[in-house]
Amino acid sequence: MSQVFLSLGSNMGNRASYLDQAVQGLKQLPATQLLAISPIYETNAWGKTDQADFLNLCLAIDTDLSPQDLLHHTQALELSLGRERHEHWGPRTVDIDILLYGQDVVQEENLTLPHPLMQERAFVLVPLADIAPTIQHPIFLKSIAELLEEVNAEGVRAVNQ
Ligand code: ATP
Ligand code: CA
Ligand code: CA
Repeated sequence: MSQVFLSLGSNMGNRASYLDQAVQGLKQLPATQLLAISPIYETNAWGKTDQADFLNLCLAIDTDLSPQDLLHHTQALELSLGRERHEHWGPRTVDIDILLYGQDVVQEENLTLPHPLMQERAFVLVPLADIAPTIQHPIFLKSIAELLEEVNAEGVRAVNQ
């Protein structure tokens, strides 16, 4: 079993419903258990900023799926929830990124672990710090709480639930 952290985001349609459906789908993955889920945050779009705000959350799972099998399943889930790929960093019904897979470091053509931009993104680090503040980043050798201190988290707002 490996402990894995995922980032979910949506900025199209009924964003909360897409996130909920993604969480339900992840719960049903083979050989996988949901361990923890963060609160939802509303966040300014990152990278390509002229688009609607996102809802974001992070979750922790235990899984026997390999990194590649997990990516395959998360991409199938994105497609089943209406994800279409138009432009890089453009609007999407749901985006599921694999942040950390245990302490594995993977550099494959279609998969980089840890996620190469997680340390720059408050919309990832704020919810991740809610569920995993002491988890170490295997490359930077800093905890999630420490990485969060180094980013500007102004554009990340708690959502009343
Ligand atoms: P970003 O990765 O910067 O958040 P994005 O999520 O908008 O951008 P996508 O279009 O969802 O990018 O994914 C592009 C490709 O990234 C996917 O086809 C996938 O193969 C690859 N990829 C590499 N590493 C990861 C990872 N850790 N988690 C998810 N996808 C990854
Ligand atoms: Ca992403
Ligand atoms: Ca993605």
